[in-house]
Amino acid sequence: MNIILLGAPGAGKGTQASKIAAKYGLMHISTGDIFRANIKGGTPIGKIAKSYIDAGKLVPDEVTCEIVKNRLSEEDVKKGYMLDGFPRNLFQAEELSKFATIDVCLNIDVPRDLLMDRICGRRVCSCGESYHVSTLNGSNVCAKCGRELYIREDDNPATVEARLKTYEEQTAPLIGYYKKKGKLVTVHGGKGSPDEVFAQIVLALGE
Ligand code: AMP
Repeated sequence: MNIILLGAPGAGKGTQASKIAAKYGLMHISTGDIFRANIKGGTPIGKIAKSYIDAGKLVPDEVTCEIVKNRLSEEDVKKGYMLDGFPRNLFQAEELSKFATIDVCLNIDVPRDLLMDRICGRRVCSCGESYHVSTLNGSNVCAKCGRELYIREDDNPATVEARLKTYEEQTAPLIGYYKKKGKLVTVHGGKGSPDEVFAQIVLALGE
């Protein structure tokens, strides 16, 4: 099974992605994670990506599509994968359709007014886990691996505003795009714990 995980920044894509990947045995491919690793490693791609990410804008399509196309040609995705953060506009969706077959586009729907608080309260770990500050009881370490948590550089109010605008203008049209193709499944991520949202996902995708 090949899945696209769609949702605004702060919808909980990352949190659900690790649960989905574990349950369905899918390779988790996050373009945001790929860019952050490149920035950390000081690669040419990282150098291009940083200014866009800092401004809350999309990294150019030609760079992003090439990365995903190459990643999907690797052996470890053959049993199924989940794209998290790609595609992010209609051009990327059209490009993707040329080199991949997607079974389901899973849309995590969260009301706009919850997103800002969720992102600005987010604390992440380099192992991939993420938390909200309100559930940490003053702790700043990852419950899964014990490493220190940090705030993503683009999780500040100004960049988040820009990211939400980018989402609304460029990414939200993908909901209609995949609906028309009969591939859209929507779950409500605004209420309930991450486990409750995951239970909806399992109902939608099947056991
Ligand atoms: P994310 O971790 O998915 O929130 O992505 C962080 C940032 O990486 C985004 O705000 C974009 O600047 C960039 N990015 C991630 N995925 C894409 C994509 N598919 N196309 C263009 N830019 C992307």
